[in-house]
Amino acid sequence: MSTPARNVVIIGSGPAGHTAALYAARANLAPLMIEGLARGGIPGGQLMITNDVENYPGFPEKVTGPDLMARFREQSVAQGVEIVTDDVTRVDLSARPFRVWVGEAKEPVLARAVILATGAQAKWLGLPTEAALQGKGVSACAVCDGAFFRHQDVVVVGGGDTAMEEASYLSGLCRSVTLVHRRGEFRASKTMQARVLANPKIHPLYDSAVEEILDASRGEVTGARVKNLRTGAVSVVPCTGLFVAIGHTPNTDLFAGQIDLHDNGYIKTRPGSSNTNVPGVFACGDVQDFTYRQAVTAAGSGCMAALDAERWLGASDAH
Ligand code: NDP
Repeated sequence: MSTPARNVVIIGSGPAGHTAALYAARANLAPLMIEGLARGGIPGGQLMITNDVENYPGFPEKVTGPDLMARFREQSVAQGVEIVTDDVTRVDLSARPFRVWVGEAKEPVLARAVILATGAQAKWLGLPTEAALQGKGVSACAVCDGAFFRHQDVVVVGGGDTAMEEASYLSGLCRSVTLVHRRGEFRASKTMQARVLANPKIHPLYDSAVEEILDASRGEVTGARVKNLRTGAVSVVPCTGLFVAIGHTPNTDLFAGQIDLHDNGYIKTRPGSSNTNVPGVFACGDVQDFTYRQAVTAAGSGCMAALDAERWLGASDAH
């Protein structure tokens, strides 16, 4: 005899997943969360690689990303959320109940509703010194970490809308922003480019690539060694912070071909809701948000997903 279907299975354990779980538990849906052993082997999402968080409301004393996620998890557990620490390896969203395969288990978990909260990951340059200095001056989120570089010189790498946004935001805090882009023109929308190019604090450096971030031996950022890709000339841009803004990758591999995605790979949700195109499948957090990408917006959308799932389950029971 097969195990009965769970009301709600939540895939992912960042702020979106935990908020969805918390609300679903409080609605008596007995949710199951698969928290994943995502890259790096730790559940909890992108906050697990963030140092200090000063913009999550309710924490006037700054809190570290891992501490904040520990508190999210503690609250989920206190509300009765069942958490499985393993990776989802496959899902079948083509028929109800939905099927979710977890870890090595042969039999899938059956789910009446599924909440997708698998998040996104920042793309990195792949330099050894970048990995060594992450959280020590190297960041992929200006809104999260910009305030640590007030009145200092920083570098932003990238040429898309994210890089323009990061550079504009940092220009409000920092003394100077050098914007390093690998080609001779930006990819960003014309409006955002125009704003950046008119900003006297932002200095574009075209046709250039960061070869090394200095100074890993001191455990802090002191500059970026930049190569001009046209001339081959190498120079050092002094800075205390370096922001990589070359895009994000949503973690949607598991769902590709089963639900509608935007061209950039993010899950499509019906505006103003967490509904995907598959009834009973909801998405929240960064896996469906390429605009705001904040812990607090992810948490808010997790709440929406739990409420949407609860209402959908209630309506399905009525039929
Ligand atoms: P994009 O893919 O649009 O841009 C990435 C940029 O990084 C490109 O300029 C690219 O260079 C560069 N890049 C990529 N890989 C490397 C690398 N290894 N080394 C150096 N440079 C690299 O990503 P974004 O995150 O900027 O934007 C993603 C989507 O989100 C877009 O659709 C964008 O419009 C949207 N967005 C919208 C915003 C808004 O409307 N407010 C804000 C932020 C994003 P190259 O140009 O040479 O390929």
